[in-house]
Amino acid sequence: MSLQEAVKEIQSSFDVSQEVLQRSVDKFIELAKKGLASNEDKLGMPMLPAYVTQVPSGKEKGTYLAADLGGTNFRVCSVHLKGDNTFNLVQQKSPIPADMMVGTGDQLFAYLASKIRKFLEEHHGDALEAAHETNSRANYLKLGFTFSFPTAQHSLDSGSLVRWTKGFNIPDVVDQDVVQLLQKHLDAGKIPVHVAALANDTVGTLLSRAYSANAIAGGKQGETIIGAIFGTGTNGAYLEKLDNIKKLPEAVVKDLKAKGVTHMVINTEWGSFDNRLEVLPTTKYDRDVDALTANPGIHLFEKRVSGMFMGEILRNILVDFHSRGLVFTQYPNFESLPHRLRTPWDLDSENLSLFEVDDSKDMKPTEVTLLQALRLPTTLEERQAIQALTRAISRRSAYISAVPIAAIIMLTGALEGHHIEVDIGVDGSVVEFYPGYRTMLRDALALTQIGTKGERRTHINIAKDGSGVGAALCASVSI
Ligand code: ADP
Ligand code: MG
Repeated sequence: MSLQEAVKEIQSSFDVSQEVLQRSVDKFIELAKKGLASNEDKLGMPMLPAYVTQVPSGKEKGTYLAADLGGTNFRVCSVHLKGDNTFNLVQQKSPIPADMMVGTGDQLFAYLASKIRKFLEEHHGDALEAAHETNSRANYLKLGFTFSFPTAQHSLDSGSLVRWTKGFNIPDVVDQDVVQLLQKHLDAGKIPVHVAALANDTVGTLLSRAYSANAIAGGKQGETIIGAIFGTGTNGAYLEKLDNIKKLPEAVVKDLKAKGVTHMVINTEWGSFDNRLEVLPTTKYDRDVDALTANPGIHLFEKRVSGMFMGEILRNILVDFHSRGLVFTQYPNFESLPHRLRTPWDLDSENLSLFEVDDSKDMKPTEVTLLQALRLPTTLEERQAIQALTRAISRRSAYISAVPIAAIIMLTGALEGHHIEVDIGVDGSVVEFYPGYRTMLRDALALTQIGTKGERRTHINIAKDGSGVGAALCASVSI
């Protein structure tokens, strides 16, 4: 088989037909409904109730804090909501010392509280003083806490850690309520802050876009109905009718309804859509990449879509092509290939965005990038093949990304009615920076059941500062 023929074979196995798109939308709706009814199916979509019961209108006012414990940094920010869809934001970032990641819960949370105090001293000295004078909790600043580890949430302001990931290992925190832990250390330090909400970046994206939408679009782009992330991973959140969330305990529903609540935001965890692979396109390379991950067999939608995986899929294809004598024939065997080409996760998806659009005559930019990123010299023919492979991978990613969006529009009936338009808030480097990604996603949306008419009425917009503003908004909408 020639290199061109092998590339053609990949192109056709990565192709996503209209039929596959429509079947996938149907499957997504089916699995979403199942996930709303119960948590029994361990391979199902989690559809987690976020205990946020409304999205902001843009008229919210006041100053709220947000704290974000990610993998490597702790960010504290304050957001001043001006009530006219706009806000001011100040933030401070500090790296988490390595010994804090494997020490005790008290050490970590006392450290986080000390960083919040330092932030207040620098940016909100007045609030600190006012609280000390009156000594009343009523003057406390509300904080939304984004805790990017798996947590089981029981209310807006409580959630217990399921397990640590990303290099953290502090056993005494597992199963503990992380909101209470942070509050305990804030109180111990006499820091006038009330942890009002446990936030999530996807829910935050929905809220922050909803808050800003009217200012940007003059209110003409319809309601914000979905917040979606296409970055290292992919996930989405939307507003669901309380009555449809069948798995919520009856007592909780009764209590919420008594407060006038009608809806709740659902964090879908759609990275886990179709873990049984009933509809998603699957190739040998998808199986190989999945096997290299820490969680094989789950998050299979994410592994075909997001930034963490696109580069790795390409690397796996290139290694396979080499073993078949189709490329890099100067290297006699696998062991002699450049080290980085042999190393999983060493080909960053950011490089693919350059391969994608290199239209220069001899593809010099691609040649230089491959040399820098992988220490891999290439011929023009090899670079042309790499570009074709890249385009197959990114197109499949963008096409199947249309599935959850179309499915949620159908599930919620968001486009039903005359002259209705809807707005989707998105965040993440892939959707923001990958050339042509949003255009391909829109092409696929038009092929789904919502059709070209639905696609034209669907607006996709970047949610700026999604995680900070979103967490602050979570605190602001607490009831
Ligand atoms: P996070 O997911 O941690 O919030 P990002 O949204 O920035 O962070 O996403 C990072 C991911 O996006 C990485 O996997 C990276 O490879 C990928 N990425 C960064 N820039 C680009 C780009 N220009 N094109 C495609 N992927 C990119
Ligand atoms: Mg992010």
